[in-house]
Amino acid sequence: MPPDIHRPALLREHNFIAQQWRVAASGRVYTVSDPATGLDFAEVPDSGADDARAAVDAAHAAFPGWRARTARERAQFLKRWHALIIAHQEELGRLISREQGKPQHEGRGEVLYAASYVEWFAEEATRTYGDLIPEPVRGKKLMVVKEPVGVVAAITPWNFPAAMIARKIAPALAAGCTVVAKPAEDTPLTSLALVRLAEEAGIPHGVLNIVTASRANAPAVVDVWLADPRVRKITFTGSTAVGKHLARESAGTLKKLSLELGGNAPFIVFDDADLDAAVEGLMASKFRNGGQTCVCPNRVYVQDGVHDAFVGKLVARVAALRVGPASEPDSQIGPMINARAIEKIERHVADAVANGARVVTGGTRLRDSQRDGPHYYAPTVLVGAQAAMECSCEETFGPVVPVTRFHDEADVVREANATPFGLASYFYSRDIARVWRVADQLECGIVGINEGALAAESAPFGGVKESGYGREGSRYGLDDYMHTKYLCQGQL
Ligand code: ADP
Repeated sequence: MPPDIHRPALLREHNFIAQQWRVAASGRVYTVSDPATGLDFAEVPDSGADDARAAVDAAHAAFPGWRARTARERAQFLKRWHALIIAHQEELGRLISREQGKPQHEGRGEVLYAASYVEWFAEEATRTYGDLIPEPVRGKKLMVVKEPVGVVAAITPWNFPAAMIARKIAPALAAGCTVVAKPAEDTPLTSLALVRLAEEAGIPHGVLNIVTASRANAPAVVDVWLADPRVRKITFTGSTAVGKHLARESAGTLKKLSLELGGNAPFIVFDDADLDAAVEGLMASKFRNGGQTCVCPNRVYVQDGVHDAFVGKLVARVAALRVGPASEPDSQIGPMINARAIEKIERHVADAVANGARVVTGGTRLRDSQRDGPHYYAPTVLVGAQAAMECSCEETFGPVVPVTRFHDEADVVREANATPFGLASYFYSRDIARVWRVADQLECGIVGINEGALAAESAPFGGVKESGYGREGSRYGLDDYMHTKYLCQGQL
């Protein structure tokens, strides 16, 4: 039992299937480790195909009952769940920081962010309006109603263990769908704790099911869901490679899909920008969760006239960031999630330097007596980054800012768009015509204009191109869990 989790009831180390906390059918477990120390601190089921199938059996059996409830009843459940999440903000925040590594204030903040989706969809549940369409000929009525798609499989990543699962489960339940979920192998405990609170909030039998699995066994679980015709939708946040696999494999039963995949966000600072605001925005968007977010700027373009001044201000801020475990309350950058993550960061920085970029601050893994874990990387600024470097082509997912100097607006927009990805983009400018021109041309789902903090439960979150499709949050988010049924009544 981790000593810093005050309410033992919130720590669950079992699957939740058909309203029961169960071990894996095989009896196998895998360990969850603390990224701050690399030490194991919990064990959860290493589930397989049998567990995945049992979860679908339960969700499928529960679907008719759940969809038959009024939207108001479903909303009431979500409101109770929301209240319990808020009441356990501290414990959940600590659990997030413990298994994921983010600083304490970010862990607590993520709980509120996750809860905001539950509240939003509690409210939206009652607004799934249909339409009455003016009849083209006399004697008919044309109507449109929205229906829940059925059983939804939710597969989530490790970087926001509470928010990612909440913003999938909440709209699914609001719409009248039932759910089978698999959290990321690195961070299953927060998801299990949220499901425990859903149980306390009175979720009916079989409506919400969750199974955990190691990375090696993730395909065994998910493949069952991909092949099962009873699963009508897959909602996934994670890498583009896995997203494409899910799209291919779910084609056999033509499931509805929401894919929130990788990004490669550009952050453009024009000569006419408010430089202090741009530095502030970059700090907020880049270093949240140590740079391990899919919307965080990955490529920073700064125009000639302000390049040196911007880099000077940025480096002063980056060099002052405090790196350390979440157990130290003033930490601003935690450990990276695992060895794979830190190796990628090292590879990207080494490649950039080998190809002519210069490290202005950081550029190394950290190890000292305070930071004795294996996964700390110094916040880093590189100048002279170029388009062909690995750090410009794919997400580094760490506290590294590669800066590229540019001269011309049209060139930088072209370069910003020269990626298969299209999730978030940011730019800073005080020229009103440029603001509209650039916002219009950026190929992405989300644009920050003189703003680094974009996420809100009331706004649509999602990408274009190989960043995926579907939207989470907002009034658009519920449609992803419903289909549109047309009713035509004649003989009137
Ligand atoms: P990351 O590289 O950030 O871990 P992934 O896309 O690999 O992102 O993981 C996101 C989620 O997808 C996790 O829940 C993980 O277990 C799951 N996953 C990984 N590989 C597969 C796979 N081959 N089939 C199904 N799910 C997978």
